[in-house]
Amino acid sequence: MPQKKKSSQATLKYNQDIRRKLLAWYDKTKRDLPWRNTKDPYSIWVSETMLQQTQVKTVIPYYERWIKVLPAIDKLANAPEQEILKLWEGLGYYSRVKNLKKSAQIVHKEMNGKLPQTVKALQNLPGIGRYTAGAISSIAFGLKSPVLDGNVKRVFSRLFCINDNGATSSFESRLLEIAEDLLPVRRPGDFNQALMELGATVCTPKSPTCQQCPVRTTCQAFLKDCVNKFPSTKKQICAKKIEVSAGIITKNKRVYIQQRAKNGLMGGLWEFPGGKREIGESLEECLKREIKEELRANIDVSERVMTIKHTYTNFRVILHVFSCKLQDKRIRPKGCEQWKWVSLSNLKKYPFPAANVKIVKYLTEK
Ligand code: SF4
Repeated sequence: MPQKKKSSQATLKYNQDIRRKLLAWYDKTKRDLPWRNTKDPYSIWVSETMLQQTQVKTVIPYYERWIKVLPAIDKLANAPEQEILKLWEGLGYYSRVKNLKKSAQIVHKEMNGKLPQTVKALQNLPGIGRYTAGAISSIAFGLKSPVLDGNVKRVFSRLFCINDNGATSSFESRLLEIAEDLLPVRRPGDFNQALMELGATVCTPKSPTCQQCPVRTTCQAFLKDCVNKFPSTKKQICAKKIEVSAGIITKNKRVYIQQRAKNGLMGGLWEFPGGKREIGESLEECLKREIKEELRANIDVSERVMTIKHTYTNFRVILHVFSCKLQDKRIRPKGCEQWKWVSLSNLKKYPFPAANVKIVKYLTEK
């Protein structure tokens, strides 16, 4: 294995300067977030999992509700899946919550209820990647484990004037080396959080507020007046647009919902029936066909009640929602886990994907 080069005195001093300034700034200006008032490994793990691909302000109420209902690993390990899906409803990326539960069961049964401390051991648990492992290990256990999320990468790219230039893996290894060198033995968790906080509040993707930055006198991009060149922007990939029709079918003041297959995308969540429009189809034709396929029944499509736009990671959905009337007396749903006729007052008890939550809201609050 190649030996890591020894840092020069100048580099050591430079790193020390960054640590001191960043930690002092963090102590003074950090946001008061609920997961920052604890060192409990489980709470840190839950918050870091929720924060993946999700904004802080969205996560706060979810986190508070979750910790209230499931305050410890054993509670999560024993919670019914529908309960955890409901607590997660609207946060998206549902594999996160399913892995959280799977890992909680492993920790509860095989590790005496205690999360492991090292990055390596944490990464053996389902759903815990390099970043989350580093965050738990440093914040909850005070170990010198670096983290690299989007915010930290951007800060490093600017601080040290380094870009991806298409060689993503060597860029990432270089950043990881920097992160390891910079991380202090004392307060590694706070330092990691300070870096993330800087990226989230000051060294933002567009228009960073360098005049308020605690490390501007050591930031190479700032000193060379080339902040906007770092990090290099990749070509924006246009998210694919998908048009979907969904139906609200009512019978005896109850509405039809079905549960998605457990092992598929958004598995275990409930939804209104419908599906993707095919080429040449009208939205109404699409809905009739989908209901025929899913419920093995015919419908009359009435008025459109709402149109919902929702963006997922790789595609955008435009969901056209219609109220419908069954032509047939009997339905014979297939392909779903289970189906139900539910009263409006009970509808909110079921977990739905984000776009369907808007339909539930429309029906229960109109
Ligand atoms: Fe980012 Fe500007 Fe601070 Fe450099 S000086 S780290 S570019 S905010």
